[in-house]
Amino acid sequence: MTAQLIDGKAIARQVRESVAAAVAKRAADGKQAPGLATVLVGDRVDSATYVASKQKACQELGMVSFHNQLPGDATQEHVEDLVRRLNADPQVNGILVQLPLPAHLNEERVLQLINIEKDVDGFSPINIGRLAQKGREPLFVPCTPFGCIYLLEQAGVKIEGANAVVLGRSNIVGMPAALLLISRNATVTVCHSRTRDLPAVIRQADILIAAIGKAEMVRGDWIKPGAAVIDVGINSRPDATKKSGYRLVGDVNFEEAKEVAGFITPVPGGVGPMTIAMLMKNTLRAAEIQDS
Ligand code: NDP
Repeated sequence: MTAQLIDGKAIARQVRESVAAAVAKRAADGKQAPGLATVLVGDRVDSATYVASKQKACQELGMVSFHNQLPGDATQEHVEDLVRRLNADPQVNGILVQLPLPAHLNEERVLQLINIEKDVDGFSPINIGRLAQKGREPLFVPCTPFGCIYLLEQAGVKIEGANAVVLGRSNIVGMPAALLLISRNATVTVCHSRTRDLPAVIRQADILIAAIGKAEMVRGDWIKPGAAVIDVGINSRPDATKKSGYRLVGDVNFEEAKEVAGFITPVPGGVGPMTIAMLMKNTLRAAEIQDS
């Protein structure tokens, strides 16, 4: 292996420790524990698992979580009323509406309602709009892209002036990751399902962020020697040697890419642990903003 492994688990642990220390200091200063309200509409098993991990992280770091479960057939009005109540609740510093919402609900209208000072997921149009504008700062950066940039910075990868390729243009990962890289003065190309000759585009990348959800699609010979590769993808592959019958892989063929790249994140243990760590960091920031 020639690439330096970027250990997301260890870096996420450091972020969580620093958040826990700041929360303990707040308590010592007589300040309120940061509070995160989670909203789950319906009973998707994956969403319920994500929400449970977020609540657990809050407990571990000395924060408070308030869970709000709504039935899968909740009306738009019902969800919006809940968000309004959480906006007005002084115990709640951050509001996290677990996505995706059931198809009958208007997700954009719900996200738009979240008070910008409580938008710890960073998905409200105001936060994303600020991220997209030169010279403006969002109050919160979406957690997974924030984690990607944090990993690059911790690994000492130079972003300014680098040619960066972001593979995927979703609202939650690809697009905000591209905007963040631009804000750090990288030259960014965003690729998607209609991009022609992906390997040729990716071969130009000093930094690659892959977020498409296609198991091991990016091959080793697509990677520029020495590039930094951040693999966001979480995909399962059948694996009879595992008790579960499957193993998780990223969007990049790790075994091939690690022989060419300069830096690489593993899956699991790369970007995955960073998402919740950054959510905790954002929730602490929300409490600090609301102190003043
Ligand atoms: P989406 O499905 O919302 O978006 C996928 C993007 O990839 C789209 O822009 C799509 O293009 C593009 N794409 C799909 N197939 C191809 C292809 N063959 N070639 C080029 N581009 C392609 O996914 P998400 O952004 O939500 O998630 C991406 C991956 O990241 C998933 O594996 C997900 O599980 C993982 N993830 C991991 C997180 C973590 O915490 N580590 C958090 C969030 C997601 P187009 O726009 O043209 O359709």
